[in-house]
Amino acid sequence: MAAISILTISTMGCTGIAEETVTNLRITSAPNDVVFRQIKGIDPTMDPNVRWNHMPLNVYIDENAAGVKNYKSSFKQDVIKSLVSWQTGTGNVVSFQTTKNLDNADIIIRWVNELDTSDNERMDDGLGIAYIAVSNTSRYNIIKNSDIQLLTQHSGSPLTSADMQNIALHEIGHALGLAHKSGSDIMNPYLTTGQITPLKLSAGNVNTLKKLYEGSAKPDLAIPAAGTAISMNRTSLMILDKYTLNVDLKIHNYGIVDVHDVEIEVRADGKTVNTDVLDEIPLGGGLHMLVQGMPVDCITETTNIQVIVDPYNKIEEIDENNNQITAMIDWIDRVSS
Ligand SMILES: [Zn+2]
Repeated sequence: MAAISILTISTMGCTGIAEETVTNLRITSAPNDVVFRQIKGIDPTMDPNVRWNHMPLNVYIDENAAGVKNYKSSFKQDVIKSLVSWQTGTGNVVSFQTTKNLDNADIIIRWVNELDTSDNERMDDGLGIAYIAVSNTSRYNIIKNSDIQLLTQHSGSPLTSADMQNIALHEIGHALGLAHKSGSDIMNPYLTTGQITPLKLSAGNVNTLKKLYEGSAKPDLAIPAAGTAISMNRTSLMILDKYTLNVDLKIHNYGIVDVHDVEIEVRADGKTVNTDVLDEIPLGGGLHMLVQGMPVDCITETTNIQVIVDPYNKIEEIDENNNQITAMIDWIDRVSS
């Protein structure tokens, strides 16, 4: 929780009670904070927050490989074996289901004569490529989809069933967020073809994925102190003073999933002065909250303004300690005291 201290110099203590009806919070349009980008080098040891936000992943295996040299229909079973290896090897931490609907596919796997290497932002392994599109939410890189291309031959020699399983294991590893690894490991970028027995996953692969996916997918609502401005104005009327509140801040969702029905509450000296409900804050999204001239009862010489998102803790979040921002507005007469 960050506190913002705003000192307002005035000549009197707090005596007035606002008479007007409280206006609604004005929530302006959501800034488009969600950035989709293709990333190349995912290294969970350096960036531990590259992951999918849901399981199982829908996998579309494109069997239409007409014209692809040395393609065998049995390659599909090899790919399925690789998917099963990742799923069983991680104890269902990651899971897959095949789909025949391209529109709801998370991962697309297809065979090609030549890898499309036109885009520099890729995992390029000679025998296969995994493209990964991620949504960057500042704290997390959420994988939105992956496109895996596999070759069917190496230097003109057809790949074996074990080769295909190895290449698919490797590229699916990238699609799950894994980076290259040295040594005897399926994520080693150099594979020997002409194999009869497929490689096994290492404990390292499995542990990295377990760590990556151990937390359930939750949102994380936050009000950052940076860029937040909270102030009050006092206008002297005949015998009463009128106090109004101005709030200018952003509410972010730094989490892994979208969040719906988000309550926001503004309190002055612990008393609720306004509430609102936001329909949705998408992952990586933010909402600009602007309150101007909202009448507030002024109770004490120092008014404690709190803006709290999810004040009754109805939403389970990754971090529950960044939902509030506080400003102390001091009305004490500094000149005469
Ligand atoms: Zn690779």
